[in-house]
Amino acid sequence: MRIKAILKSGKDQSVKRFHPWIFSGAIKKMDGQPKDGELIDVFSNKDEYLGTGHFQNGSIAIRLITFNNEKIDKDFWFNKITKAVNYRKSINIIDSTDTNAYRLIHAEGDNLPGLIVDYYNGTLVLQMHSVGMALAQEQITAALMKSFNDIVAIYDKSENTLPYFSDYKQTNHYILKKSEPDKLIKENSLLFYVDWEKGQKTGFFIDQRDNRKLVKDFAKDKKVLNLFGYTGGFSVYALAGKAKHVDTVDTSSHAIELANNNVELNFASENKHNGIVADAFDYLTNTNEKYDLIILDPPAFAKHNNVLHNALQGYKRLNQKALEIINPGGIIFTFSCSQVISKENFKKSVFAAAANSGRSVKIIKYLSQPPDHPVNIYHPESEYLKGLILYVE
Ligand code: SAH
Repeated sequence: MRIKAILKSGKDQSVKRFHPWIFSGAIKKMDGQPKDGELIDVFSNKDEYLGTGHFQNGSIAIRLITFNNEKIDKDFWFNKITKAVNYRKSINIIDSTDTNAYRLIHAEGDNLPGLIVDYYNGTLVLQMHSVGMALAQEQITAALMKSFNDIVAIYDKSENTLPYFSDYKQTNHYILKKSEPDKLIKENSLLFYVDWEKGQKTGFFIDQRDNRKLVKDFAKDKKVLNLFGYTGGFSVYALAGKAKHVDTVDTSSHAIELANNNVELNFASENKHNGIVADAFDYLTNTNEKYDLIILDPPAFAKHNNVLHNALQGYKRLNQKALEIINPGGIIFTFSCSQVISKENFKKSVFAAAANSGRSVKIIKYLSQPPDHPVNIYHPESEYLKGLILYVE
């Protein structure tokens, strides 16, 4: 028997609209004390069944994995994964001939809160953000293996993403390694080396795939600055778009090494790229170079609402500096990947930056995340990546 949680009167409204999070303050009582990761059933104050989810001690107390009163067994996981696979077939990312890296499971976006699975040319990288998902790992892995017959390796990279305050701990490890995995992936026919063991997130920022393609479209004959470049994703696309020269800046020397390597993989005979280990703000302040195209893709400046104000100031400062050095007629791609920063707030901070710079600025396009990072309409928080393409006179 699973423990039952009863919600306070009125607190069932968002669940009835399929929002998968139950905050601890919404719970009236539980008929037992669940352990982190345990499955528990959620009921309204009128004893109506609402859903079943993973318990976790914290502000989000329960993450619902179903709104149907069903068994959570191997068929459950297989059905969920089959839905995710079918969706990605319909958006033509699985079996694509020019791209073999994509997100297979995007947590709430795929109705699986707490679970990320990325596919890299035969290797699956799992990242659990909840103890419940970590405890379900064996069933999830079995379902994944039933869905894919070409999997060479499965790597669990949850060491740093599981809630730090929980007693449940694990280290990163291969769950499966049939042979040495191929770490070279193809994205829109460009090559990248992905180091999921040492790299950030699951190894690569797959979520910028469509936006990188747009950079390629705008790059011809331009002098490009890619700030927060990581493994040089945007830089490689800019070079593919026949940029005159590209500078990639990142504070991590390992990232710059990988960026140089990725440029080499695609454009070995060209000498148009410079990798620079530096702080992006310092670089913008001190450089005498002028650029025609600047990409600003910083890490999340805010992970929590209480630092929102500082984060918005950070975006403003960064965008203002870029606006101050860009050549007339230049293009800026500017992003925020903070979930807690809304599209409107991000736009406001860029607006403030533009006003302070005194430049005339046009918004060419609004940017978002690609379809393999789907936004669950009932969970607006799944939309985290936002960006603007600006034209600066
Ligand atoms: N644009 C990248 C992803 C960026 S991730 C891509 O498409 O793959 C953010 C990167 O910013 C990380 O590589 C991190 O090392 C770097 N970083 C963090 N703080 C920085 C700073 N102050 N200056 C420059 N780089 C920074």
